[in-house]
Amino acid sequence: MRLDVITIFPEYLEPLNVSLVGKARARGQLDVRVHDLRDWTHDRHNTVDDSPYGGGPGMVMKPEPWGEALDAVIESGADDARPTLVVPTPSGVPFTQQLAVELSERPWLVFTPARYEGIDRRVMAEYGERFDVREVSIGDYVLAGGEAPVLVMVEAIARLLPGVLGNAESHRDDSFAPGAMADLLEGPVYTKPPEWRGHGIPDVLISGHHGKIARWRRDEAFRRTTANRPDLIERADPASFDKKDREI
Ligand code: SAM
Repeated sequence: MRLDVITIFPEYLEPLNVSLVGKARARGQLDVRVHDLRDWTHDRHNTVDDSPYGGGPGMVMKPEPWGEALDAVIESGADDARPTLVVPTPSGVPFTQQLAVELSERPWLVFTPARYEGIDRRVMAEYGERFDVREVSIGDYVLAGGEAPVLVMVEAIARLLPGVLGNAESHRDDSFAPGAMADLLEGPVYTKPPEWRGHGIPDVLISGHHGKIARWRRDEAFRRTTANRPDLIERADPASFDKKDREI
């Protein structure tokens, strides 16, 4: 099995050299390749983030370096090789043992651990048109970055491979944060440029209308939560949802 990890902290993945995963690598059961996202930046400061469209705290990872990095990694595979992209995010589907089993049966996984408020949504849209893109959460809490979740997922997946086993002011809008959005996952985020590989951004985010932006964010959060974690909606107090929520 081949595993690629694209990160701004390659050193965070050093535990992949030790223990069960390290031994599987040494035995040739796992081909692990760790890449520095900043290798695909072109400015003096190796910039990978920018401010979010629509305003708000935190920064969003820019689509360009991610696109170039993913293109390069994908092109390095055999012509007919099709990786599964695993995007760690608290707003993904829960990482379960069932999902670990499913992923362990894939020949090639590419992990995209993010920092800041996550990756511009259009990256997932772009690659989702050609590849199986899985947005996965390792639990209902928010870590500073996706590297630790990658370590968690890789370990859970690697131990299922045959022969490997011998016998979260910036967190205000985060998923699961207390407040009006407490029962909802965070919706998609976007940053510059306004047009990337034919993908635009929702017009409301550049309308300057804070009320409409807040409503759009709530609607997107509601849609995503309904899609990815219906259990959160089911166990929420019905009084926490307003009339417009119920129309979605
Ligand atoms: N504002 C985002 C939200 O609430 O959805 C959280 C961004 S977090 C500070 C930065 C990055 O850490 C995420 O993009 C993801 O790569 C990783 N991360 C944090 N918590 C995670 C979790 N529970 N499962 C998977 N990845 C996580």
